[in-house]
Amino acid sequence: MRDLDRRNLERYVTTTAPGAGGLIEVEGDFLSRALSHLQQTGAAAGLNEGRPIEFVPDPRVQTASSGAASVHAQQYHQGIPMFQADSTVLFAPGGALEQSVGSTVEVGDASAELSTIEAIAAVAAGLDFLNLPENRTEEPDPFGQTPEPFPVLGPAPDEVIVAFPDLPSRPTTLVPGPFAGRGIGLHLVWLPLGAVLRLGWLMELQLPEPRGSVLLIVDAQDASVLFASATTHGLLASGTVFPLRGDGPRTEFPWPRPLTDYPVRSATALPAAFPDPWVAGEQTSGNAVTAVDAETGTCVTGVRAGGSVTFDAPDEARRRVINAFYYCCYLHDLYYLLGFREIDGNFQADALGRGGAAADSALVTVYPDIVSATANMTTPKDGSRPRLNVGLVTASGRHTALDATVVYHEFTHGLTNRLIGGPANSVSLLAPQSAGMGEGWSDYFACSIAGTQVIAAWVTDKPSGIRRHPYDSSFPGTFADVGTPTYRKAHQLGEIWCATLLEFERRVTAPLALQVVVDSLKLAPANPSFLDGRDAMLRALDGMLAAGQLAPAAHRAAVDSFWTTFARFGMGPAATTQGPQLAGVVADFASPTAPVVDPTATARPGSAIPDKDARGVTSRITMAVDGRVERVSISVDISHEFRGDLRVTLTSPLGVSVVLRTPDDDARRDLVTTFDLATTPALAGLRGQPVRGVWTLNVADLQRLSLGVFRAWTLTVKTQ
Ligand SMILES: [Zn+2]
Repeated sequence: MRDLDRRNLERYVTTTAPGAGGLIEVEGDFLSRALSHLQQTGAAAGLNEGRPIEFVPDPRVQTASSGAASVHAQQYHQGIPMFQADSTVLFAPGGALEQSVGSTVEVGDASAELSTIEAIAAVAAGLDFLNLPENRTEEPDPFGQTPEPFPVLGPAPDEVIVAFPDLPSRPTTLVPGPFAGRGIGLHLVWLPLGAVLRLGWLMELQLPEPRGSVLLIVDAQDASVLFASATTHGLLASGTVFPLRGDGPRTEFPWPRPLTDYPVRSATALPAAFPDPWVAGEQTSGNAVTAVDAETGTCVTGVRAGGSVTFDAPDEARRRVINAFYYCCYLHDLYYLLGFREIDGNFQADALGRGGAAADSALVTVYPDIVSATANMTTPKDGSRPRLNVGLVTASGRHTALDATVVYHEFTHGLTNRLIGGPANSVSLLAPQSAGMGEGWSDYFACSIAGTQVIAAWVTDKPSGIRRHPYDSSFPGTFADVGTPTYRKAHQLGEIWCATLLEFERRVTAPLALQVVVDSLKLAPANPSFLDGRDAMLRALDGMLAAGQLAPAAHRAAVDSFWTTFARFGMGPAATTQGPQLAGVVADFASPTAPVVDPTATARPGSAIPDKDARGVTSRITMAVDGRVERVSISVDISHEFRGDLRVTLTSPLGVSVVLRTPDDDARRDLVTTFDLATTPALAGLRGQPVRGVWTLNVADLQRLSLGVFRAWTLTVKTQ
């Protein structure tokens, strides 16, 4: 799409003179002090003579652990926001006002009573603009690929969901019409164009997936498009790296990598903007990770061409920095998908308004020679920067920055330190068993994500790597060995824990195991024992059943695999321990007997659901069981862009149909849930019918635009 009016407003910086008042104001009201400072500096700059400038501060004062704080404020005029005119006032740790940075616009006599076109007409004008042929095609991306033009969109939305005509900016929400999402939000803004202030309708329109969003400003008088910008792309970047270790072919990947490249799917809704850009500019530095060369203390600078930056280097030193940066950004995003986000205490310079402490992006330093422990990670509490140091293995001459298993192991110490015991507790993995589990988790995630059973094989140039046994099914240590001379130290104990988790993963698949383990980190107590960790995983599995993430049959199978695995490693139900200490460990190698199960069957149609077609798709399950129905439950796994479009109907072998779900305006994605008597009382009508025969489930999409796939369903029948 064409970008219109890509302006750079002049940035200003003010600095308070030393002793100019700050030092005695050690505490107090950052918001009001920030506002009065902005008023004064605006007046001093000659802006708006005789008129006060309107600023509206964001009430969330951001505070770093040092006590340094910042206040963000948006400029307004006559109650209407000024586009891209905002200021940030920065306070030193002692509370002194240091400086303000931002852009302010001088306001003339522009009056807000100039809006002659209404919200509906403004969106219609935006739609006409997007439908111009030159706007439906995109420029080739940095990989030389040009997406197909998107289809002509229409008709324009013509219905207001809600409007606030009495507010000066007139916030309005329209029905989405041909756009994605639940509705179109728009409001009036001032747009400075040269010396003139124009009043326009600011709207963000979500194109059909996977196109992303565009931000438009439509003139409120003549309906011309004043400003257009794709909001999804940010700064395009890519890097050429060793995907897993420093001997394979180097590969160019887009930064950030698309979410479909990761081995897991997010169980919960993601922010619309995710994945966020990895780099903020042209260096190996962004919101989550900064990677520097220890000798120069600097990042690696990429090469900018057009709108994108590429990272590559002919020399080993810079390749190490690029690679370490890549591994850490990849892991940041993978863990984000698994639930390690701002609110959970992840590492980000800016929490992006999503909660959690800011100012703690990971600092990765690449040393030319050896560092303590060859590679190490320090994770202070949320709001303080974790530091990951990687160095050389002198015996092999290879560098840990180029071995994903080592970087993943170290970065994962950050994950476990922040999640176990909560983000504010950085002493939650100190007890002997707990410290061992910390190492075990780091090995587990590194092996799982890198697809190996050995840590550091490449960087040490030894097939067995740095542990005593490969993490395969014949791993010799068990819970019974905890505290014996061969299993006393953290890395030794960690081998047992990692071997257990990888055995569980082999039985239930990696995506499920990764999610269970990350969930368990949030459900375990601080300084856990192995058995606390085990119980937290069981709690995580049961939570997935309750939330409908796991169908009953899948949950039962996973719990069976869970107990088989933990009993194999001596952590059966009767195992005991004296807290997280090494003394008093009693192992149990017996797994609980499996309960009697009801007849259950799963079908995986994998069929696309035709859009706006009441016939839908139908999948059949044949039950070869005698007896009569006491009750049934149906678990469905349907991926869909807008689940409210869906109707789901079960039909019994005798031809009795029960509608399990009728269409509504639920805008969430995907329908992964279980229907039973509690959710769908009409299922009682099937009671007494024969179980044997063909059961069908029909899934129909009754609305246009959003698409989906009927992936799987499971029928469980309790017989009389
Ligand atoms: Zn470690």
